[in-house]
Amino acid sequence: MILTTHMLAGAAIGKNIENPWLVAALSIIIHFILDTFRHGEYLNQNSKLKEFWRVAIDLAVGYSIIMFIVFSSDFSDIKIKNILIGSFASIFPDLLTFLYWKVNFKFLQFYINFHQKFHRYPPFSKEREWNLRNAANDILVSVIAVILLLI
Ligand SMILES: [Zn+2]
Repeated sequence: MILTTHMLAGAAIGKNIENPWLVAALSIIIHFILDTFRHGEYLNQNSKLKEFWRVAIDLAVGYSIIMFIVFSSDFSDIKIKNILIGSFASIFPDLLTFLYWKVNFKFLQFYINFHQKFHRYPPFSKEREWNLRNAANDILVSVIAVILLLI
C-alpha cells in the first residue's frame, strides 16, 4: 500500500495504545497484513531514482494529515510521541525495500522475499497497477485510520 495509508494506520495504533514498544511492533505487523490486500503501487523494482519524487509527495501527504490532526486536537505528549512512533514504524518495512532496491543492500534479500510473500499478486500484474480501482483498499483503510485518530 502507499506510505500515506501505512502511516495513518500506524498513527491510529499510536493514538490508541500506550506502550511505545507495542505501538512499534503492531505497526510493523499491521504493515504486512495491509500488504496482503489488493493495492496499486506507483513504483516497482525497475523504477529509476528520479521517479522517487512520488515517495516525497506520499510522505508529505501522510505527515500533513497526521500533523493537521495532531495540531487540531489536544493529545497528550505521550500520545503525540506514540503517533510519531507508529507512523514511522509502519513505513519501516518499505524503507528496507528501498535500501535493497536502490542502495544495493544485498544482505536484505531474505527480508525482501519475506516482504514479497505478503503480496498476493505478482509484480507487474494488473492488480498492482497504479489506478483508482486498485486504490480502493488504500482509501478505505485511510478513512478508517483517520476516524480512529479523531474519535
Ligand atoms: Zn510493504
